[in-house]
Amino acid sequence: MVVRRNRSDQRTVNDRPYKGSYMKEIVLIKLGEMVLKGLNRRTFEDVLIKNIKYRLRDLGKFEIKIAQSTITVIPASDDIDLDDVCERIGEVFGIVTYSRACVCEKDFDDILAKAPVYAADALSEAKTFKVESKRSDKRFPYKSPEISAQVGGKILSAFPHLKVDVKNPDVIVTVEVRDYAAYIRYGTMRGQGGMPVGTSGLATVLISGGIDSPVAAYMMAKRGLKLNAVHFESPPYTSERARLKVEKLLSLVSRYAGSIEMHTVPLTKIQETIRDRCPEELFTILLRRVMMKIASRIADTTGSGALITGESLGQVASQTMYALGCTDAAASKLVLRPLIGMDKQEIINISRRINTFETSIEPYEDCCTIFTPKHPRTKPVLKFVEIAEREAELDEMIEQAIADTVVKTITP
Ligand code: ATP
Ligand code: MG
Repeated sequence: MVVRRNRSDQRTVNDRPYKGSYMKEIVLIKLGEMVLKGLNRRTFEDVLIKNIKYRLRDLGKFEIKIAQSTITVIPASDDIDLDDVCERIGEVFGIVTYSRACVCEKDFDDILAKAPVYAADALSEAKTFKVESKRSDKRFPYKSPEISAQVGGKILSAFPHLKVDVKNPDVIVTVEVRDYAAYIRYGTMRGQGGMPVGTSGLATVLISGGIDSPVAAYMMAKRGLKLNAVHFESPPYTSERARLKVEKLLSLVSRYAGSIEMHTVPLTKIQETIRDRCPEELFTILLRRVMMKIASRIADTTGSGALITGESLGQVASQTMYALGCTDAAASKLVLRPLIGMDKQEIINISRRINTFETSIEPYEDCCTIFTPKHPRTKPVLKFVEIAEREAELDEMIEQAIADTVVKTITP
């Protein structure tokens, strides 16, 4: 969560008066797991920078640099709201922490003068503080402990009510002396973690309008997967508004996952045929197998390496171990089920945090909720499911549904 800093009387990034001029503010970003990636590290960093640029593209122009596992985001003009920038950065995978920082010359007097002014808002409300220093430019003539001691002294004389607490301070002011400049920062924010979207390849999420599948999409994008999506609809049993709801969910997910190509597949004819020709207790499992077959084909044509679903063991009749086994057998791709071991409440907690919950609970129908059997098989046997499927003669209809698929790109 971004702690918004701009007060109504503070308009821009450079709006903290200092010696008659303004202090330049930037955002410093610390990278996550990808720091461990050895030789591939450059690729990971390049993808992350590309993703950050994508998320910031409509907020203005920025210079983005990387050195020593830290990315600096430098606004090119002073009318850019850094709170907006931080909110976006907080949604990009591959970032552990980030913070706003004030730029200083690599001159100790400049650092000493700016630190109490820059952190004034937080320091005036705090009771305790400490200063931490990092000197990655070893040519800087003062060592870290001395930087901390002197900056701490300046802060104490500017805010005599404060006490130093090295164990559990209200505010930590950090001074970083790096290659191009020195920075002062406080109020570090936690990023999403995970790996930059795109570094693990492309996968296809089966997205419904429910709570689970947007969470599943988010979780796999967090592991570096770029997403495309397949949504099945059965008009007129399902409405246009139901599809718009799914588009809205994907748009919310794309804040984290980047743009998502959505493939909407009409299933009306197939569902009616299953209803007319198959035993009622197998309706759902047969439908789920059709979904897997079509999604696998779409994955193939789009270069996607896996399917993603929001299934969770035992949640409904079609998600018993036996039902999932029958569903899985119809897929020709690896199926990723990140929610498989999670309780509904755990899934809901994530969906609230990523802001999809309120949309997910809007009451629209899904093709899974029409023609639902009164007593679905919880232990379907693959052999009998396959016999029922053959009798329904769905192959041509599956080809037609794929041909009638509509593709649309969804963005944040
Ligand atoms: P969700 O909250 O994701 O809808 P659910 O608990 O309602 O999940 P099901 O309706 O059985 O469970 O669906 C299980 C999974 O199948 C979903 O998470 C999703 O991946 C996929 N799925 C269900 N309906 C559709 C649909 N209309 N289009 C695409 N995929 C679907
Ligand atoms: Mg559902």
